Amino acid sequence: MEVVWERPYEVFSEFMAANSYKSSLIICDRNTFDVCANKVKETAEKANIKYKIVCFEPDVVADEYALGKVLFEIEQADIFVGVGSGTISDITRYTAYKFKVPFVLFPTAPSMDGFASSVAALTINGLKTTVLASSPEAIFVDMEAIENSPKILKKAGFGDLMGKITALLDWQLSHIIFDETIDLEVLQIVKDTYLKTLNSVGENHFYKNLLEGLITSGIMMVRVNSSRPASGCEHHLSHFWEYHRIKTYHGIKVGLATLYVLRFYEHFLNLDKSRILERKEYRVDIESWKDIIKRGFQPTFESIIKQNIGRASKLNDKEFRYNVINRLVEKKEVIDELIRDAIGVYDELIDAYKKLEIPINYWEIGIDDNLFKISFLCAPNIRERFTILHLYEFLGLTDEVVQSF
Ligand SMILES: [Zn+2]
Repeated sequence: MEVVWERPYEVFSEFMAANSYKSSLIICDRNTFDVCANKVKETAEKANIKYKIVCFEPDVVADEYALGKVLFEIEQADIFVGVGSGTISDITRYTAYKFKVPFVLFPTAPSMDGFASSVAALTINGLKTTVLASSPEAIFVDMEAIENSPKILKKAGFGDLMGKITALLDWQLSHIIFDETIDLEVLQIVKDTYLKTLNSVGENHFYKNLLEGLITSGIMMVRVNSSRPASGCEHHLSHFWEYHRIKTYHGIKVGLATLYVLRFYEHFLNLDKSRILERKEYRVDIESWKDIIKRGFQPTFESIIKQNIGRASKLNDKEFRYNVINRLVEKKEVIDELIRDAIGVYDELIDAYKKLEIPINYWEIGIDDNLFKISFLCAPNIRERFTILHLYEFLGLTDEVVQSF
């Protein structure tokens, strides 16, 4: 997959010619038409490429209705061209996949990491789901459109990218404790991109670095066929808050959650081996575990309990506890080193959030005290993938950390 940073419209025209694509379906919304899709249209006209435009309202949701609109309007097209950010790229990615047509993207905001992704986030029957789709053939970047995109979308993209700090730590933690497969090259590439972006806040190439980081994260997910390089418990927290209809962009929630998750890692750094060994005897009280889920997951708590009861019971398995505790103690120095290396950016991160006016406290996005406190115990039930919050659930030390916030 090619990412084009210079002369995007000319290169798009060359790309169409090189592949003998003669007809296209341009998918956009009214805003992205004005900043970018109109130029795609002009390019198509100049190059004698047939085109049809499906233009949505700016607040479109990637749901059955939107997918149906594409189905209704489609005529012969060799390729789909999505012009927009999250929603438009999901609609394009999924419909192109269903119609077995290749597609390219013109991102219009650095708002999320899904551009290169091979899955689409859709809302079906009112519920968010992730479905299989395909990756774009190429991504054409009009930096002028990116730089002029709404501020809130840029903040969201920055938050989503900074979430990689804890996503990568979670991946490493799981690798060390449970031998989960890891790809060190992928890990390093993602780390380099978030650092490059963080180090360039306020500078000339900041938005280019940000978009590049987001696109790269997506490419790395495709490479390892897993969202591990881009998503850990900061995403589980974000999904939990979304379940509670906390109304702000995905990346804003992820960015905020990242700050709290880093505090869990900091706590682990200060945890003595003797303290860890003591936790061998800890038992999860299944009744209070169920109670937290009841409070956190109304009205679907029963299915959450059902999905997680096996996982929760295993936390009390003697052999499992001993094995994990022994591994933690044995590898404590290695884990500490990784944590130290990653959380060194904490102060810089806070400065960057302040500079970009990104929330750094839970109440700023409408989370109340009660919801906040149970978030860290509820998040491990969102997904089984092991994270620092799963480790703290296992150690029974979640509340100790939350009380220090
Ligand atoms: Zn994300």
